[in-house]
Amino acid sequence: MLGLYVHIPFCSAICNYCNFNRGLFDADLKERYVAALLREIATSPSTSLGAGGAAADTIYFGGGTPSLLEPWEIGALIHACRHAFAVTNDAEITMEANPETVTPERLAGFREAGVNRLSYGVQSFRDDELQRLSRLHSASRAADAFAMARAAGFDNVSLDLMMWLPQQTIAQWLESVDALIALGPDHASLYILELYPNAPLRDAMARSQWSLAPDDDAAEMYLQAMARLDAAGYEQYEISNVARPGRASRHNLKYWSDGEWLGFGCGAHSTRRGVRWKNVSSTTEYIAAVASGGQLAAERRVLTDREALEEALFTGLRLTRGIDVHTVNARYTTDVWGIYGDGLERFREAGLLIYDGRLLRLSRAGMLLANEIMSEFVSSPVVD
Ligand code: SF4
Repeated sequence: MLGLYVHIPFCSAICNYCNFNRGLFDADLKERYVAALLREIATSPSTSLGAGGAAADTIYFGGGTPSLLEPWEIGALIHACRHAFAVTNDAEITMEANPETVTPERLAGFREAGVNRLSYGVQSFRDDELQRLSRLHSASRAADAFAMARAAGFDNVSLDLMMWLPQQTIAQWLESVDALIALGPDHASLYILELYPNAPLRDAMARSQWSLAPDDDAAEMYLQAMARLDAAGYEQYEISNVARPGRASRHNLKYWSDGEWLGFGCGAHSTRRGVRWKNVSSTTEYIAAVASGGQLAAERRVLTDREALEEALFTGLRLTRGIDVHTVNARYTTDVWGIYGDGLERFREAGLLIYDGRLLRLSRAGMLLANEIMSEFVSSPVVD
């Protein structure tokens, strides 16, 4: 089934490490943007490779900060998705939210609008780290936001944390992991901070002489956090994601398991029937293109069979269950181990990759070297 992604590119402030497609909140621009989204969603069944009437079982509001929208706007967007596609009654409907944007009333409104899964960008439960990241919330605000979500009836809440932050020690990182476990979310995502070349955080680090822990410490951060989450009853299902049983992100699994999805809004990606496309990135250009009925896709590419295969392998290996090689062989009429086995053998011998003749997966140690191992699958550039 399809996944539907809706991009909301507005934030109250721009974090000093952020490389997402986002801009500062502007009430007038937001109003025009939501109107454009409603129109794009309404017309997409006829423009998205025969997606009319297609079934969808997930809707995901990502950003940016989707929780800056009013509950009725989120409700109208969900309604538009339901009108344009056969959205299942039990669809997973996720909204990313920043802790400082929610109140009990707003959360009740989002729940009423149909959102049934919240994903909070917490990043750290230490105030000094949050300040270095120029985040607007504090650790206690994040804990309050979590409690408010539970009180509003959300029984599926995810929290994001970031590791390997400037000045962060292993012990400080584990404080955040323990604080997360103490709250007991249904799902957690742990990401390593990636500093893009011109990130303002790089300047702040240079000015304040903040440094990053050594690479070996970053590996320890990852391994120790995963061990604590294992012990607390979470199941790791992807390199960066753990969940209580049955709470893995249905939407994000589509990205890692060769699924199909349609993306709405500026910069949103779609993949359907072997074609991949991406909307124009600029918010104002997007609004103008929708208004004029013009071309929304800035990039469009038909994947070759080889590219589709490599992408399926590349993303599938992110999952702890790994890749069912027999299924992939049948789907792509190929011989995965015959093509890639020579290059992968050294990783198998080193215990980084596990292959039993059917399932191919990374060991936890292998997850630390995932990019290097996965690069064996990329004979041609991965599609952007
Ligand atoms: S809230 Fe998220 S999307 Fe917005 S600037 Fe910060 S990191 Fe980027």
